[in-house]
Amino acid sequence: MVKTEAPITRRKTRQIQVGSVKIGGDAPIVVQSMTSTKTHDIEATLEQIKRLAKAGCEFVRVAVPHEEDLQALPDIVKNSPIPVIADIHFAPSYAFKSMEKGVHGIRINPGNIGKEEIVREIVEEARKKGVAIRIGVNSGSLEKDLLDKYGYPCAEALFESAMRWSERFEKWGFYNFKVSIKGSDVLENIRANELFAQHTDIPLHIGITEAGMGLKGIVKSSVGIGILLYKGIGDTVRVSLTDDPEVEIETAYAILQSLGLRRRGIEIIACPTCGRIEVDLPKVVREVEEKLKHIQKPLKVAIMGCVVNAIGEAREADIGLACGKGFAWLFKEGKPIKKVSEEEMAKALLEEIENIQN
Ligand code: SF4
Repeated sequence: MVKTEAPITRRKTRQIQVGSVKIGGDAPIVVQSMTSTKTHDIEATLEQIKRLAKAGCEFVRVAVPHEEDLQALPDIVKNSPIPVIADIHFAPSYAFKSMEKGVHGIRINPGNIGKEEIVREIVEEARKKGVAIRIGVNSGSLEKDLLDKYGYPCAEALFESAMRWSERFEKWGFYNFKVSIKGSDVLENIRANELFAQHTDIPLHIGITEAGMGLKGIVKSSVGIGILLYKGIGDTVRVSLTDDPEVEIETAYAILQSLGLRRRGIEIIACPTCGRIEVDLPKVVREVEEKLKHIQKPLKVAIMGCVVNAIGEAREADIGLACGKGFAWLFKEGKPIKKVSEEEMAKALLEEIENIQN
C-alpha cells in the first residue's frame, strides 16, 4: 500500500502514463475533466481547455462524435497545455483516426465498440503509438450477456465487464490502461469499484456519472468519490456535473483537499457564524474567496467570527482573522500580528496573503 501525507492508505496500483502525466503508483491523484464545447470549434475548445488547465485540470477529454471533430484534433493537441484524450463511442474507426491525429489517450467503452477482434486491433494500434487507453464501463451501456445474466447493471455486472476487458488487454500484452466503472447509483458504483480494487492493481479513474446539476450533483459526487478515496481507491478523478467544467475541477480539488490527498490554492476555514458574531463575516469570506481564486500555491486561511475557536484554528492555519466587535486580529503562523478595523480586515488579510505568495 502507498502512504499519502494523509491518514489514508492508497491502494497500490501500477503506474501508467498519459502524455506527460503519470497515473497510479506513487503519483498524486490526478484531476481531469471533459470539454463541453463542440470539438470541431477549435477556438472555443482550446479556450475552455486553457481555462480548465489554469483551474488545475491535468488532462482533458474531448468528444469525437463526427468527422469534423476528428479533423480538429491535431490543432487541439498541438495547442493544448495538457494531454488530450479522445472520447470514442460506437465508431472504432474514430479510435484509429484519433490516434493518427496525435491524441495522448483514448477512452473507449468496449461494450459499445463491438467485436473483441476490433478492440484488439485498437489495442495493438495504441501500443504502436504509445497511446494510453481508458476502458470505460458504464451502467448505461453494459454488454447484453451481462444484462441477461444479472438482470440489471448491478455492481457485480459492472465489475465482471471491467474484469473481462482488463484480462483481455493484459492477455494481449497491453498494460498502459486504466479503468473506470461508473454508475449513477452511488452505492452500486462504490461496490463495483471496491470489487475491482480487490482483484487487480490496475489504476482506477473514479467518478459518479450523470450526477446532475448544482448542489445535488456536487453532493452526490462528493459522497461517492469521497467514500472511495477514503478507502484508498482512485488514481484519477472526474467530477461529472451538468455545469461549467471549471466547477468540476474546483469540486474535485475541494474533495481531495478535504481528505488531505491534494492541496492546491486557498483553503478557507470559515466559521458558520452564530449569535456571537459582531461583524459581517460572510461578506469577508466571499470577498477573500473571489479575490484569491488565481492563487495556486497551497495556503490555509482561517476566518473566524469570534475568539471561541479562532485561536485554535489560527494555530492550524497559515494566516487568519479572529474577529471581535467591529475589529479583527490578523494572525500569521499562529501569532497575532495586527489589529484591524472591520472595514480594513479583508484588505489587510489579502495584502498579507499577497506578501506570503510573493
Ligand atoms: S467562531 Fe464564534 S461566531 Fe463563529 S460560530 Fe464559533 S462561536 Fe459563533
